[in-house]
Amino acid sequence: MAYDPGNVFARILRGEIPCRKVYEDEHALAFHDINPQAPVHILVIPKGAYQSLEDFSAKASDQELAGFFRAVGEVARSQGLVAPGYRILANHGPHSHQEVPHFHVHIFGGRPLGRMISKT
Ligand code: AMP
Repeated sequence: MAYDPGNVFARILRGEIPCRKVYEDEHALAFHDINPQAPVHILVIPKGAYQSLEDFSAKASDQELAGFFRAVGEVARSQGLVAPGYRILANHGPHSHQEVPHFHVHIFGGRPLGRMISKT
């Protein structure tokens, strides 16, 4: 399937809809999730048009890959999550219930996060 340039995160990147921005650099944008699942719930997205980790890991340049993952770490540090701890999560495809087809990493924190994955 081709990348859908009408997805909500592509629209955020183009400035067509607002976001609560946390961080931005040439490779990544981070903003608060609109429906937070933890006291801190931030999404980090690459600026390139990648649907999920599948094509991001296969097609992105080394600079994009490094820049993106450095941004994830920077956001976690800037939010004070290093000492208490945090979790990152990225969904790919139907089994994961990925909703938005633009690669994103969720950063969760701000409380003990419980078990790693649902059994259902
Ligand atoms: P996923 O299921 O991994 O694709 O997660 C998509 C996430 O995007 C969900 O946690 C949504 O709450 C979040 N989301 C959807 N639309 C927006 C938006 N306009 N601004 C911020 N977060 C959004």
